[in-house]
Amino acid sequence: MKKLLILLLVASAYSCKTAQSTVSKDNSDPTKYVNVIKEKDLKKMLYIIASDEMEGRDTGSKGQKKAGKYMIEQYKKNGVSFPKGASDYYQAIPASYLNAKRNKNLPDSENIWAFIEGTEKPDEVLVISAHYDHIGIKNGEIYNGADDDGSGTVAVIEMAKAFTKAKKQGHGPKRSILFLHVTGEEHGLHGSRFYSENPLFPIANTIADINIDMIGRRDVEHANSNNYVYVIGADRLSSDLHNAVVAQNEKYIKMDLDYKFNNPKDPNHFYERSDHYNFAKHGIPSVFLFNGVHADYHGKDDTAEKIEYDALTKRTKLAFVIAWDLANRENRPVVDKK
Ligand SMILES: [Zn+2]
Repeated sequence: MKKLLILLLVASAYSCKTAQSTVSKDNSDPTKYVNVIKEKDLKKMLYIIASDEMEGRDTGSKGQKKAGKYMIEQYKKNGVSFPKGASDYYQAIPASYLNAKRNKNLPDSENIWAFIEGTEKPDEVLVISAHYDHIGIKNGEIYNGADDDGSGTVAVIEMAKAFTKAKKQGHGPKRSILFLHVTGEEHGLHGSRFYSENPLFPIANTIADINIDMIGRRDVEHANSNNYVYVIGADRLSSDLHNAVVAQNEKYIKMDLDYKFNNPKDPNHFYERSDHYNFAKHGIPSVFLFNGVHADYHGKDDTAEKIEYDALTKRTKLAFVIAWDLANRENRPVVDKK
């Protein structure tokens, strides 16, 4: 009996050793990497992205381009490359495209993208999106857009940092992840529409979009607590996506998920009002994380000082654990609804 046990132990130790080189590591628990997301890093980046220097990041403006350069610097510093098949971090969008629907004389602009290649299913791609443009300068006042959508911008950069650390330690996502900062949102969701019409990776291989637009503040409905987020769209195309959001939140984050704006009859129609919609309309399961509107929405006082950094951090972590599940789960989320 004893001898047999020893033999079994030796055999199992040997099989573990071979397993490490041939079978991918267990990615069931994101805890170690969700903790790579740090409030102080989100805050530091957001104070820069939403600073007066970026002049409100209007589409195609000097300030937006400056913000874009800063974002790319963060990716380089964190060791996150631009996508396979692209020649740099930019997806150029010509002015003619931006002005085709309604001519506002917008100059050329760019989406910005970064990428982590999947270890097992590299051809299947999860998109994590947030717009980095805002509304610029009006009557001499700079509209900093810290919440809209500086908050989503820094969340996406920070998530890429955490996934990169996981990959360096042998726990890279099994599917590929495209970190997509779209332009032209405030003028009509142009950047995400351009991407969806000119995708770097086939739409058919795009398994889901997690879109983050405004996650650093609270609305009057939640005056007593910032421990919530509105979840919009998750169940419109895929029960799997909805279930993943619910399960990952319950397991790791424990935040109130508010579905009020997911009601198709809600008069605000937020489902149609941010960038995930350009993925959803192509049949890609999409979820929009959002804190709701507040007094400074599209106002000159949407500034970095007014962000609730604890809420921004917790919601970024929620987006991360959802992304972790989608990138690592056995099967991509099934589209089972029309
Ligand atoms: Zn926005």
